[in-house]
Amino acid sequence: MTADPRPPMQLVYEKSQPGRRAATLPDPELPVPDLPEALRREQAPRLPELSEPELVRHFTALADRTFGVDTGFYPLGSCTMKHNPRVNERVVALPGFRDLHPLQEEDGAQGALELMWRLQEILAEVVGLDAVSLQPAAGSQGELTGLMLMRAYFEDRGEGEGRDTVFVADTAHGTNPASVTMAGYKLQKVGTDERGNLDVDFLREHVDERTAGLMLTNPSTLGLFDERIEEVADIFHGAGALLYYDGANLNAVCGISRPGDMGFDIVHYNLHKTFSQPHGGGGPGGGPVAVRAQLEPFLPVPVVARDGERFRFDEDRPKTIGKVRGYYGPFGVFVRSYAFIRSYGPRLREMSEVAVLNANYLLARLRDAYDLPYDRLCMHEFVLSARTLKREHGVTALDVAKRLMDYGFHPPTIYFPLIVPEALMIEPTETEPKERLDAFADAMLAIAREAAEEPGLVKDAPHRRPVKRLDEVKAAKQAIVRYRFDEHPDAGAAREPVQPVEAPKGV
Ligand SMILES: *Cc1c(COP(=O)(O)O)cnc(C)c1O
Repeated sequence: MTADPRPPMQLVYEKSQPGRRAATLPDPELPVPDLPEALRREQAPRLPELSEPELVRHFTALADRTFGVDTGFYPLGSCTMKHNPRVNERVVALPGFRDLHPLQEEDGAQGALELMWRLQEILAEVVGLDAVSLQPAAGSQGELTGLMLMRAYFEDRGEGEGRDTVFVADTAHGTNPASVTMAGYKLQKVGTDERGNLDVDFLREHVDERTAGLMLTNPSTLGLFDERIEEVADIFHGAGALLYYDGANLNAVCGISRPGDMGFDIVHYNLHKTFSQPHGGGGPGGGPVAVRAQLEPFLPVPVVARDGERFRFDEDRPKTIGKVRGYYGPFGVFVRSYAFIRSYGPRLREMSEVAVLNANYLLARLRDAYDLPYDRLCMHEFVLSARTLKREHGVTALDVAKRLMDYGFHPPTIYFPLIVPEALMIEPTETEPKERLDAFADAMLAIAREAAEEPGLVKDAPHRRPVKRLDEVKAAKQAIVRYRFDEHPDAGAAREPVQPVEAPKGV
């Protein structure tokens, strides 16, 4: 296998040559207004100076080295990296949506309000609950919002002091315990039994009148549906507590089962996961929250309401927890998710069916080459372990992940959930065809063989990427947080640093 043949990249500043420009325009014949002296720059800003073709090549080369769903298979478990249909982008760029101002008066934004209202209605139906707030901008913010709703509900009933504990599964995403703590609750961890369900005996013993609620995702981060969820719900409701559903795994169940029917009282969605958005690298996201009727008075303001044919923001909610985000939430995300859901229409169930089918197909192809800690049919994702590879050949989950990059695949999520040693968490999503799944399975099987026959090859991977494996310990201990291009070995940097050019008059 050969190394990446492309030369190392330079910063756009290193490519800069004094005086280079893209298109230049003649001086305007209009008078340039004088800026007050105090506001004028003394030097031009230190911007890179490049010709237009060099500038285009620079950014195209960067894009070439970026891995995304548009370049290849991205089975990052729990993140639902599905294809973002291009029709979403067409719709969100319609001038009537794109050019709206957040302070636009309601009469001039009826279409946008109607879209938000319809999205609220659809989302409530998908989870089997009564009311939705679109405001939170991420799943994690939805979690905090949901727990604030829980708190407001108990305070309103005079139980605010008494109930101080929230139960979280040991398979939970790290945001769950973080949200519990941020919301001011005590955290109680619940274990997982040998089938991957919650430990019901533990719950029977520990859930009591001090319990505010449970946070759970179902299917869990093991990709397994909790078979005893109704018993679990009865235990919490029996103690007067509430159930919170982390909706990050909703891709497994849409149109098939509903958290509200399972007994959950509060749900967050990850619009960017289940309902398609270009995400990764931190955004944009959407984390609406749905609740049962008794929690509706506490929802963040404003909620979009409908009066006959007219739509409006309902701000008049005396028990609201207030605003959790500026304006009305991430509107562009609403438009894309709405377009995505409407393009399925009543067939939304097929999305989840194919996601589950794809995951089980991959599981069937890989189960003999890796350890399978919970041997059950999976939902939309599954968790393997590399612990035998590690014990017998010294090859870890991290090594497998790095080697997959040589084969052109984004690695799965690794070392999560925490209860599985050497975990590899694989989520193919419904948007992958069988050929891609097979190519990925072939690569995973080839890596398992390499681990036995030539472990060094896997342990030193990647071999074909622009950057080799980084020394993570050194990176942490000797963090270099500032790039100095005169010190960079590849810098064509005998070149002079960027010279400030004289500021044009009046700028
Ligand atoms: C992604 C995820 C979250 C957090 O959602 P964000 O939108 O990233 O804040 C919470 N729980 C689970 C299981 C997740 O996969």
